[in-house]
Amino acid sequence: MAILPIKIYGEEVLREKAVSITDIDGDMIRFLEDMSRTMLHASGLGLAANQVGRAIRAFSIDMSHFDVLQKPMTIINPEIVESAAGRITGEEGCLSFPGLYQLIDRPEKVTIKSIDFDGREYFFEASGMVARVILHEIDHLDGVLFIDKLSRAQRTLIKGKLNRIRAGERV
Ligand code: ZN
Repeated sequence: MAILPIKIYGEEVLREKAVSITDIDGDMIRFLEDMSRTMLHASGLGLAANQVGRAIRAFSIDMSHFDVLQKPMTIINPEIVESAAGRITGEEGCLSFPGLYQLIDRPEKVTIKSIDFDGREYFFEASGMVARVILHEIDHLDGVLFIDKLSRAQRTLIKGKLNRIRAGERV
């Protein structure tokens, strides 16, 4: 069991397109558990495998943030099956951008297909903040970061902050 170092904006692996997971063996389960533990340790809502250095298709989401009765989940090989036409704007942060929060437009609902640790397929429907986190994390698996969703003008405004994050500062 380990807390893994979180990759910060500017590191190459955050731009890699993650590959599907084929073998959920002991080593893989250990890595996925470490990823989940790292998310909880950093008090994140979600954390994608790229953010802890491996471009493979999995992410953790801490459902207890949205419902105290729920536990963190590990989502493996997610695919978007359907997303709502309606979009909503909400504030987002990212553990790879310490201290940066931005308003981002996302579909308000999403249905994904995933597999569990035994390789069994299941569907998961989410709305609101849960949908937002899921879409943010799936973007990570495609090498897409939340700042990519900003307009050119908005990105220019935070250029200084991005440079400081890249240099290892919290903004
Ligand atoms: Zn993120």
